[in-house]
Amino acid sequence: MTSLELDQRYSRQLRFGGIGIEGQRRLAIARPAIVGCGATGSALASLLARAGVGTIRIIDRDYVELSNLQRQSLFDESDAGESLPKAIAAARKIAAFNSQIVVEPRVADLTPSNIATLLEGVQLILDGTDNFETRYLINDFAVQQNLPWIYTAAVGSYGVTMNIIPGKTACLACIFPEPPRGMLETCETAGVLNTAVNWAASLAATEAIKLLVGAQERLRGTLLSFDLWSNQHAEVAAARPRVGCRACSKRNFLHLAGKDRPEITLCGLNSVQIHERGRIVDLAEMSKRLKPHGAVRHNDFVLKFWHEPYEMTLFPDGRAIIKGTTDTTVARSLYARYVGS
Ligand SMILES: [Zn+2]
Repeated sequence: MTSLELDQRYSRQLRFGGIGIEGQRRLAIARPAIVGCGATGSALASLLARAGVGTIRIIDRDYVELSNLQRQSLFDESDAGESLPKAIAAARKIAAFNSQIVVEPRVADLTPSNIATLLEGVQLILDGTDNFETRYLINDFAVQQNLPWIYTAAVGSYGVTMNIIPGKTACLACIFPEPPRGMLETCETAGVLNTAVNWAASLAATEAIKLLVGAQERLRGTLLSFDLWSNQHAEVAAARPRVGCRACSKRNFLHLAGKDRPEITLCGLNSVQIHERGRIVDLAEMSKRLKPHGAVRHNDFVLKFWHEPYEMTLFPDGRAIIKGTTDTTVARSLYARYVGS
């Protein structure tokens, strides 16, 4: 008997005909990446980790906040209290319930310039993002590299998911040459039900498991959406690429060639994000420097600085989120004054 058969952990999955011992072995050596570890990403990571997927790379740039806990099932109040980066908090939480698998946390924002490095060596990409900009970037990369990926989204009471197998199925740009209307709403403007998140993540995680165990013939070939509040559902055929598609037919990967995000973008309802590149910040040193100017707290991953009426969150790579304003000039000058120009 192999160790997998001896391990009671997976006994219910080993008994399931679609997986069995051979499927479980394949899961143990599988290497997917989850891009974004918010609500959908948390659910995906938890399901795949519990199922015994051997190495999971989790890429997320954000830190845990209290408002996440309603739906982001891998995090708890102490993570929010510590303002831990989600990728780190996810790795710690997973280690507590499955220490046999490997989680590779990456505290980073997926951009055209780092996507090849961040996704190097993975065999499947799962979408835990909350925006179409990143999804088009993933789509271009996946089509170019011939890597499968699974689109998953939830907003309001609505969830949607679709498998993209380059060279076989439609890609995201086949179905949505432009970002779909309605999905431009975000969880911050339209809210989201945790059940819609888990519905979409459950379907996507199941498709991921099928793919990883080699049950390709069982994969769904449609874009499937469901509104859990109105009970309306829709399915759009997506089993074949669209002739003339910008990405998979013409191989014009404009999002890979795209510039990285502008230095400052508005994020959320009352905050500004400053994308700094190439600046390394010593958070302990910075904490000492900021102490005379307001309340400050830091750990290895993040620094929080309260300077009424603003709250600045600073990361070791120099990125900052300033809450309490939507004025980029105000945010910029606060950053320049306390962090550096
Ligand atoms: Zn396409």
